[in-house]
Amino acid sequence: MKPLVNPRRVRSLADGRSGAGPVVYWMQRDQRAEDNWALLAAWQQAVERQRPLLVVFCLVSDFLEATMRQFSFLLKGLEETSATLTERGIAFTVLTGAPAKVLPAFLREHDAACLYTDFNPLRLCRTWKAEVLARISIPAFEVDAHNVVPAWVASPKLEVGARTLRPKIHRLLPEFLEEFPRRLPDVLPWKQKLSSFDWDDCRTSLKVRRDIGELTHWVPGTHAALSQLKTFASSMISSYDTGRNDPNVRAQSDLSPYLHFGQIAPQRVALVAARAAVTEESCNAFLEELIVRRELADNFCLYEPRYDSVDAFPRWARESLQDHLKDPRPHRYTLEQFERAETHDALWNAAQRQMVNHGKMHGYLRMYWGKKILEWCREPHEALAIANLLNDRYELDGRDPNGYAGTAWSIGGVHDRAWPTRPIFGKVRYMNLNGCRGKFDVDAFVNVWGT
Ligand code: FAD
Repeated sequence: MKPLVNPRRVRSLADGRSGAGPVVYWMQRDQRAEDNWALLAAWQQAVERQRPLLVVFCLVSDFLEATMRQFSFLLKGLEETSATLTERGIAFTVLTGAPAKVLPAFLREHDAACLYTDFNPLRLCRTWKAEVLARISIPAFEVDAHNVVPAWVASPKLEVGARTLRPKIHRLLPEFLEEFPRRLPDVLPWKQKLSSFDWDDCRTSLKVRRDIGELTHWVPGTHAALSQLKTFASSMISSYDTGRNDPNVRAQSDLSPYLHFGQIAPQRVALVAARAAVTEESCNAFLEELIVRRELADNFCLYEPRYDSVDAFPRWARESLQDHLKDPRPHRYTLEQFERAETHDALWNAAQRQMVNHGKMHGYLRMYWGKKILEWCREPHEALAIANLLNDRYELDGRDPNGYAGTAWSIGGVHDRAWPTRPIFGKVRYMNLNGCRGKFDVDAFVNVWGT
């Protein structure tokens, strides 16, 4: 059988003796039935071994500041994925609890042949994986279904910035930016009953923060993601190169929540964008963000385990921030003041409110937002902690490598270069309100989001 998946996208995590039961795909980051290389790799194994295929998701309620806002998006998306898989004869179940507790027992109960899972560079997810692997003895594989170029193939080391990763990615795109297979061989159906999962009950009983609740203006799931992609590719992408830095213009794709929850494949987005009838400038500007910048963030978290700490900042930034620790700070705010948007700066407050109320702050403002937190905190490590906490708590796309790379870029010069020295910022790039006024109509944005 011709491989469904490029073998360089798959890496072995553990050897072992196969059981007589199904192939199991432990779905984590890539929560979709469509265009999913990890599912396809497991599918191929199931067909070749003539075994059924089971897909399992472990639901952990304690996940990096996630609230009901993010869990409701996740659960509705997963419910759709479950229905699509079931229609195709693939059994899907959700196990609740820490993966190390629930998954090894499930694999033993079903005498699983082998385990497939998707790739996530975040520490917590790597810890889960290591804990599960320590408790099983079947072969296990990891598949990068989130990056167009698998993170470990793109680069074996921490990259300095986009300029060093870009040529590596571009060299590999002809190999990896391929269409997904259309016709899949039949897989043996799963005949036993799996313990049923009550989605509504889960939504009402899940022990997570509920005061930050569901956002009904966002429709979760692969169907909604593909529809958003269609709208973006047919009308909005044409102004991406000129309009994406204007928060009053709808030129960004709004796909980040779907990408974060793996409800759409970045590779599908790239394939559709590359075919859109727009100027080369717009298309290239979008693919630079979607592929190079996004995959640079995965590279950062994969090779820098302290990605959410000031220790991950480049040396020039750490040293110059240290040199400016004693600089006067005319404005200082606590976490609570930031959270309630109670600063003296109407633009910052409006951006914060956009994040809190809409669930997604405009990309250009995220840079300003992060840099002002640095300016108005006592120390960079406090600024980084506050930025990550608010980002993870309120953004639908938070708790993502892009978020940790974004705050580290704003506050600590990660992936950036040294700039002329300024008070407080040292050599870290500075942004101010006048700069924003030169780029877009600040008052118009404040009028919409300011209260
Ligand atoms: P589009 O402009 O349409 O871009 C398409 C996709 O490209 C995005 O969905 C994203 O996957 C990727 N992308 C775009 N810009 C970047 C970037 N600068 N770095 C990496 N990938 C990028 N992104 C998140 O996904 N989650 C976060 O929690 C997050 N937090 C951020 C915090 C700060 C302080 C900063 C400076 C940036 C952050 N970003 C984050 C990156 C970026 O702002 C968002 O990805 C983007 O605004 C999402 O909107 P969109 O999908 O409409 O973007």
